[in-house]
Amino acid sequence: MSTEVEYEPVIGLEIHVQLKTRTKMFCGCELSFGDPPNIHTCPRCLGLPGTLPVINEQAVHYGIMIGLALDCEIAPRSQFHRKNYFYPDLPKGYQISQYDVPLCGAGRLGDVRIHRVHLEEDAAKLVHAGASGRIHSADRSAVDFNRGGTPLAEIVTEPDLHSADDAREWLNLLRTTLRAIGVSDVNMEEGSLRCDANVSVRPVGTTELGTKTELKNMNSFRFLAQGIKAEVDRQVALLRSGQPVLQETLHFDPGTGRLTSMRSKEEAHDYRYFPEPDLVPLVATEEMLAAARAELPELPAARAQRFEQDLGLAGDRARELAFRTELADFYEAALAAGDGVDPVALANWMQALVEKLPEGSDPSQSSLGPAAFAALVQMVAAKAVSRDAAREVLGIMIADGGQPAEIVEREGLGSLSSEDSGLAEIVAAAIAADPSAAEKVRGGNMKAVGPLVGYVMRETKGRADGGEINRLIREQLGI
Ligand code: ADP
Ligand code: ZN
Ligand code: MG
Repeated sequence: MSTEVEYEPVIGLEIHVQLKTRTKMFCGCELSFGDPPNIHTCPRCLGLPGTLPVINEQAVHYGIMIGLALDCEIAPRSQFHRKNYFYPDLPKGYQISQYDVPLCGAGRLGDVRIHRVHLEEDAAKLVHAGASGRIHSADRSAVDFNRGGTPLAEIVTEPDLHSADDAREWLNLLRTTLRAIGVSDVNMEEGSLRCDANVSVRPVGTTELGTKTELKNMNSFRFLAQGIKAEVDRQVALLRSGQPVLQETLHFDPGTGRLTSMRSKEEAHDYRYFPEPDLVPLVATEEMLAAARAELPELPAARAQRFEQDLGLAGDRARELAFRTELADFYEAALAAGDGVDPVALANWMQALVEKLPEGSDPSQSSLGPAAFAALVQMVAAKAVSRDAAREVLGIMIADGGQPAEIVEREGLGSLSSEDSGLAEIVAAAIAADPSAAEKVRGGNMKAVGPLVGYVMRETKGRADGGEINRLIREQLGI
């Protein structure tokens, strides 16, 4: 028997979210993504001497909305600090951030406690030769200041996650929540959502935290999970071979799946934080909180719970819908339009709809209307159209619109029932064509019914109702 110690991963996330404000955090330059370099700049965001920052009210409003959505305490008075360091993407030589008194304190989202949320400004973007067609000389980098000064919310969790998959799933919940409240595009590929993972391991059953490493800037959900998995494996292997884990910052290379050391971790005192002398403390008034509260929609987690509890959807299905606001909105519109439509059947058909739409697209942008969608689901329930035929009708409605009853009529896709001429005869032909399967079914082996049903489906081009076929088979076999 192995006596090897089992280890448990411990993970805390630090997430940067670009806020979707009109202008930058401390100046009037417009936000942009993908514009020509250095056209959204001014003396303030270029850090020229003698300029003064002005706090963006909309960014504060969004910060408060985030805090409320994450159940955080909002600080009535918070403070901006200067975080000093030298880097070419930081022309002032410091970043205006928040330090000991952030805008939002302790909170929670799902099973994970939030440590804090604070506001800060983004750095500019370094463009390296080769990474862009804009720089041709092989040994140069250039700075695009368009991004410099973009408002960011930094969200820090407590170390409450215990696997790479949990981290990925939780980050998805966070993303969907931020998207639903409309404060950010939260797009990892475009960099409006960036996530660093702090990872340690400890023997199962112990509570003391192990030494952590910090994994930087994994720019997709898949890479985040891959990076954490690789790092957990690396740490467990180190500890098992009697070596310590060193506290450091690691860079995950998705190409090779390897982690490389970037630098040993700096401590807070390296940054020489001090209060930003050009800004008075940030005061969050009751009116500001009320305005933020008034703008919060029903949050995805609450919506999923309502779908599960009030409408009877399975938990996974409820989350699939609720975590994509455009799907949940379409679903609820169809539910409201379809008088008496079964919510569970409708949710199952949402799945079929998602499979037919281009990935990630919004059903309301297709030609399908929610009322027509609900009507189709009701036709299936009434057995006026088989499931397979209904899928076909759905495809037509997504492409061209139209009412399901008319399409069924026009395309001759109506369900074949026993009263219709034909179905009973086709079932008889199926039995005649495969006597050995028929014999097995008669003998009680219901699995053998498959080939018989398949025969009927082929002959009817999927227009026959599965339940009806089964009923006729039993009837004709006398069971
Ligand atoms: P630092 O001072 O290195 O920035 P913090 O205490 O501020 O560390 O925590 C930063 C992030 O790291 C938080 O998300 C926190 O939950 C997480 N964290 C802290 N200690 C650990 C640990 N031992 N293992 C995993 N995550 C940790
Ligand atoms: Zn500016
Ligand atoms: Mg920290």
